[in-house]
Amino acid sequence: MTTIIDGKALAAKMQGALAEKTAQLKAEHGVTPGLVVILVGEDPASQVYVRNKERSAQAAGFKSEVVRVAETITEAELLDLIAGFNQDPSWHGILVQLPLPDHINEEKVLLAIDPAKDVDGFHPTNMGKLWSGHPVMIPSTPAGIMQMFTEYDIELKGKKAVVIGRSNIVGKPMAQMLLDAHATVTIAHSRTQNLAALAKTADILVVAIGRANFVTKDFVKDGAVVIDVGMNRDENGKLCGDVAYAEVAEIASAITPVPGGVGPMTITMLMEQTYNAAVRTVK
Ligand code: NAP
Repeated sequence: MTTIIDGKALAAKMQGALAEKTAQLKAEHGVTPGLVVILVGEDPASQVYVRNKERSAQAAGFKSEVVRVAETITEAELLDLIAGFNQDPSWHGILVQLPLPDHINEEKVLLAIDPAKDVDGFHPTNMGKLWSGHPVMIPSTPAGIMQMFTEYDIELKGKKAVVIGRSNIVGKPMAQMLLDAHATVTIAHSRTQNLAALAKTADILVVAIGRANFVTKDFVKDGAVVIDVGMNRDENGKLCGDVAYAEVAEIASAITPVPGGVGPMTITMLMEQTYNAAVRTVK
């Protein structure tokens, strides 16, 4: 029987535990985790993501603020804003919602965030720490997937993992985390030859490409664990993943649905990172 990996339920369970840990941190050390999110412009999808992050931070008992700035803000003004939050000890996590308008250099902005407050884990210092086997701040989406493997007792050691997608926020850090967990990892991308045949060798298949229902059962070995990171709209405008869920669920041993799989875990892991950053300031 196929196990449906319920990211929504796991995220809710972790959020509850987080609220308890946060209350304890406040009582014992007088420290309240603080998360500030900077939103540039009015991109509708970004507004939804930011609102969800704010809600989750508030539910955990954090100090939380969304700083909304006009799309016309200059790069220098944005860098100044970040510098102010870097200096202020009441903020443990600083997040700049991407994408940014074209006149702002994204790399410069990510570099401006104090690595100790970079709860997205996108700063090169944090990426380097992850790749050298000393992770501190790690990207939330793959971190949430690792949490799901733990929760569902999915063995990674010695398994063959294929990650389709090589973005800095999902594919690459996912591959590194799987490697750290002693899987044998292959990273595939848009130039990979014979992708379906390669994917079919995987015991653990993680798909993060952004193509609706792209991975059919021809890509999946019987009994494989399939993690679908994709968030797309199908031809009817319905939210769907990168994996053709119904047919793949017939042969996978475990699979994440979309919605209700990877997505809810991403925000919860962001809150965990903020909490951990706050804890580090009292140790
Ligand atoms: P991205 O930066 O656009 O990267 C996509 C990756 O997929 C690239 O490495 C690309 O290869 C590869 N790719 C594209 N088409 C392919 C194909 N036909 N065959 C093989 N590889 C292909 O995307 P991302 O930010 O990693 O996000 C991927 C998906 O996950 C999106 O749907 C996004 O919305 C979703 N997402 C969800 C969450 C969540 O919390 N649930 C979080 C982040 C992202 P090249 O490098 O060769 O171009």
